[in-house]
Formats: sequence, C-alpha cells, structure tokens
Amino acid sequence: MPITVSPPDVSPLAQLLPDEPLLLMGAGPVPIPHAVAQANSVVINHLGPTMQAVIEGLKELGGYAFQTRSGKIIGVAGSASAAMEMAVSNLAWPGRSVLALVSGTFSARLGEMATGVGAEVTTVCSPLATPITAAMAQAALAGGRFDVVTIVQGETSCGVLNAELPQIAALVKAHGALLIVDAVCTLTTMPLRMDEWGIDVVVTGGQKGLSSIPGVSLIAFSDAAWQTVVARPRPMPHWCLDAQRAWRFWGDHQYHYTAPVPGILALYQALRLISTETLQRRFERHATCTAALQAGIEAMGLQLFVPPEFRLPSVVAVVAPPGLDSDEVRRQMADRHGVEIAGAFGLPIIRIGQMGEQCRSHHLFHVLSALGESCRRLGLPLDVSGGMAALEAELCAR
Ligand SMILES: *Cc1c(COP(=O)(O)O)cnc(C)c1O
Repeated sequence: MPITVSPPDVSPLAQLLPDEPLLLMGAGPVPIPHAVAQANSVVINHLGPTMQAVIEGLKELGGYAFQTRSGKIIGVAGSASAAMEMAVSNLAWPGRSVLALVSGTFSARLGEMATGVGAEVTTVCSPLATPITAAMAQAALAGGRFDVVTIVQGETSCGVLNAELPQIAALVKAHGALLIVDAVCTLTTMPLRMDEWGIDVVVTGGQKGLSSIPGVSLIAFSDAAWQTVVARPRPMPHWCLDAQRAWRFWGDHQYHYTAPVPGILALYQALRLISTETLQRRFERHATCTAALQAGIEAMGLQLFVPPEFRLPSVVAVVAPPGLDSDEVRRQMADRHGVEIAGAFGLPIIRIGQMGEQCRSHHLFHVLSALGESCRRLGLPLDVSGGMAALEAELCAR
C-alpha cells in the first residue's frame, strides 16, 4: 500500500515560538514559576510508588488551598471547564433541579452544562457588571425547590466578584441544596473557605490563581456532595469525568485512565509553593498588587469597568480606551512591549490579570507602561508618568 498523505512541510517549533515569550498578563494562562516548569518536563509511571506519594501530598496541599478537611480531592485531566463538568454531571441528571446563579460567561457555562446532562435548570442573572447578591439568591431559592445551585466566586469575563458568597452558601445550605462554586480565577488569590462557608464542591483550574500549567484541574467534594455522587441512580454520561471512577486513581491508586503525569507534578510544585508562601501572605500580595495596578490605571486616565464595591481583584476589567481600537492597543502592547493582556467576550473592555505570578511589582510596571504608551502612540493622550507614579506610590504605601 502506498503512503497517500505526504509528510507536511511545517516550521520547526523554535521558528514559531517568539525569541522572548510574551509576558502573560491576560485572563489566563499566567506565567509559571521555574520549579513548576521543571516539574512539567518529567514523566514517571503514573501508578508507581513515587506517584502515589505525589498524589497523597497533592490532596493535602489541595485541602489547604480549598480550606477543607473533606479529603475528597480529585485532579482532572482537562481544562477548568472539564472540572466544572465533573462537578455538574456528577450531581445533576434528569429529574434533578438546578439553580444557576449567573453573572457572566463562566457562571452561564455551569448552567449550560446542567442543561446538557438533562437537569431542569432555572437561571437567575445579575445585571451587567454587578454581582449576585444574597437577596437575589434568597428570592430565587424561595421560587422553587432545588437540588443543586451553581455560582462563580469571581466572574472573569466581566471582572465582577460575588462578595456575598458566604451568605449565599448559608442560604443554599438552609434550602437543602448542594452548592457548586467555580473558583477558577480566584483560588489562592483571595479567601475561600470551603468548609467554614459550607460549600459542597469547589472547582479550580491550573493556569490561573495557582500559576501551574493549563490542562490539569482540581476539584474538591464535601462529604454531603460525595454521598450524592455515590448514590446516583443512573450511570454517568461521561466516563472520564465520573468522580467515582476517578476516585479509583485519586483514592485507591488504581488505574482509571493514564494520569497527566507532568501536569500533576507541576500542580504539586505550584501548590507547594503556595503553602510555603502561606495563603495569608499570598492574599496580601494579591491585594497590594491589584490595588496598585488599579490606582495606576485610573491615574493614567483610563476608567475601570466595575464599581469598586463589586470589583474582582484577580481580573481587572478596564473600559476600552475611548476612540481606539482595543485590538490594535493589545497588538502594540505585544509587538512593542512584549506584554499580552486580554480582550473580552463581546464587552467594551480589556482585562488585565492579577493571578499568581502576575502579581509581581516588576510585571505591574511593565504592563502599565505598555498599556499607557500604546494608547498614547495611537492618539489617546494618557498621563503615563502619572499612572506609573500612582502605581509606585500604592505599592510603597502598603
Ligand atoms: C478561565 C475560567 C474558566 C474556564 O477555564 P478553562 O481552563 O478555560 O476551561 C472557568 N471559570 C472561570 C471563573 C474562569 O476564569
């Protein structure tokens, strides 16, 4: 048999990659520490004793990050969305009712996933650039009988923080439903106390607050959520995302599917760096950096999209520079300054991430000057030095 498809003439990878990688200051993925990158280059047997020790350590580290003693912590080979899908599909099925509390793209995604597995879904949306309040959640819960409620802690798509999450969690518990929280962009950037707040499932990705690689995610189940997982009356539609099957590997060190070994090692390193830094110091670093960045942006003459009381610290939404093409601004930032920030899902904003390794003062100076100078070159007279001075003052004030 002749070979019918000839070898393609594609570029060597080194030609495709830039000489100097762009500084990733968008909404994820974020820069990773050297120790994480090194771990990501190692492949070992996924069922051997070394991996067992890594998994046991990873679950302990995860318990610290999630602030839970439940022990039911599972890694998912897949994006954060895959972990969201594991949460939803193990707790929702035809005949179950789900309340989706929606404040943007990602919280809406949880509702779509619940619809996809055949649950009856009620959606309640907050107005644009505002959070879900406890009062909204209370009214929504009073209007039905729900088995599962889904919400996001920080809505990356528009830069809104659901600051009343602890109160909402208490209302959901009183209602008798299970609460799924998407903490993909927020985990370890700001407080989230799974056990204390009474959250049943928390989901996170690798490539945001944790500063690991994309493609390996983490999920934690409370005891109550796990009881529901185990008691489900029908087969799981997703074999890979079946939490009970996944527990064979994560609990019993048996084969489920071949684990994403390098990504798990990278996540271990990332979480270990977090526990060495301590959550308290990490939260302070994030609070300082995001406050300084926001002060710099405003002092330069740009506006922030979300009012301060609703503003998500970990992804800062900036009103698109007036009169300019935001895509062109972002292109100039990348081409001339080597910094990348994010656009938006159809909203008139640009977004700058403040997650994990993005929260370093030298990165703040870099991204702010790149933004200011790019806007100025395109014709918007921003006070770039005023912005830099405000950034510096705010960093030093803390
Ligand atoms: C990025 C993000 C997701 C999706 O993560 P993927 O890894 O792209 O699947 C979900 N929720 C929030 C809040 C996010 O920021």
